[in-house]
Amino acid sequence: MPAAKHPNAAELLGKSREELRAFAQSLEEPAFRGAQLYHALYAERKFDFAEMTNLPAALRECLAREARITLPEIARRYRSGDATVRYVLRLAGMGTMDKKAKAPERPATIETVFMPEEKRQTICISTQAGCAVDCRFCLTATLGLMRNLTAGEILGQVLVALADNRHALKPQTNIVLMGQGEPLLNYDAVMGALRILLDAEAIGISPKRATLSTSGIVPGIERLAQEKVRPKLAISLNASSDAQRNEVMPINRKYPLEKLLAACRKYPLRPWEKLTFEYVLLGGFNDAPEDARRVARLVNGLRAKVNLIPWNPGDLPYEKPDPARIEEFRRILTYKGVPAFVRYSRGQDVMAACGQLALLEAAAKQPLAQISPAS
Ligand code: SAH
Ligand code: SF4
Repeated sequence: MPAAKHPNAAELLGKSREELRAFAQSLEEPAFRGAQLYHALYAERKFDFAEMTNLPAALRECLAREARITLPEIARRYRSGDATVRYVLRLAGMGTMDKKAKAPERPATIETVFMPEEKRQTICISTQAGCAVDCRFCLTATLGLMRNLTAGEILGQVLVALADNRHALKPQTNIVLMGQGEPLLNYDAVMGALRILLDAEAIGISPKRATLSTSGIVPGIERLAQEKVRPKLAISLNASSDAQRNEVMPINRKYPLEKLLAACRKYPLRPWEKLTFEYVLLGGFNDAPEDARRVARLVNGLRAKVNLIPWNPGDLPYEKPDPARIEEFRRILTYKGVPAFVRYSRGQDVMAACGQLALLEAAAKQPLAQISPAS
């Protein structure tokens, strides 16, 4: 019978190679055992110590007592008509086992989305439960910030989505940090997760295939600029003037367009890289031809593209944009030399907009089983 787990067993998911080396040493093992653990956990994606056959049997037994690997748990799974899978994931609150933890993580639910395509899959992950940024068009904002996710909880979403779809995986995986939360307000955990996700000796996602989206937290952008390993950067612009942006993104009062775009101009793009500006089109609010011309002026001189995202309706006082206006907006940007693309959210029939599932879960007003639950 396996020995009982120690109540203060260390959580390993999210630990870096160096942290696992130190952990091995704390068990009076040589440090290289930590590197082997790193390989088993992230490159081989083994979550059961008994299966880590690159480690000696005695160490595996010791780990079963002294350590744990906690993946987010699938609370609900919704399959959309376009094959998108949306997950409501339950986070156990890993830190609660560790009495020494300064701020034990409470249980929480978050969303993760798996989008299969012909030659790749894209996984959209959350970085916080809820969000404090308070954008007026975003349902996640109405949840408020419940808590930051740990590095393990952030990368665990990718592991769960890959494992749950293991029989239908395509050779390439893209990740986008566009689920719940503002990644640059949970900087250390997000970077901890990304270093493992983007490490060729760990999960091995190419930095060209990972995108972090921010509402424009300027100090976070400046910090990201210094990182050796970093994802691509997308900025949620969502307005064409300060007055307009103040109205829908109150964070603009703290980091107005001039400061935000100055940080973008200083951002060290790699030779293959472009900045992405996301622009949620709110019908009748920011989708006029004049807005498109202002956006073109704002991003003038930047190596950038604009993704136009028609607003995904939720229970908020905005309108979907008119298709003719969307096309006109795109045409003006392109004419002004700014590459622009229209991106429709996938999985519309399973509550596509950011935060919608969690909101339903929180309110539990509507029986979720009615929204095409998967097996
Ligand atoms: N907090 C980060 C990342 C998560 S939001 C950010 O704001 O960038 C990811 C993207 O979804 C952002 O570009 C945001 O503007 C957009 N978004 C939020 N609510 C939306 C909605 N209802 N319809 C369409 N896009 C939305
Ligand atoms: Fe937070 Fe992004 Fe939603 Fe704004 S759009 S409230 S930053 S998740």
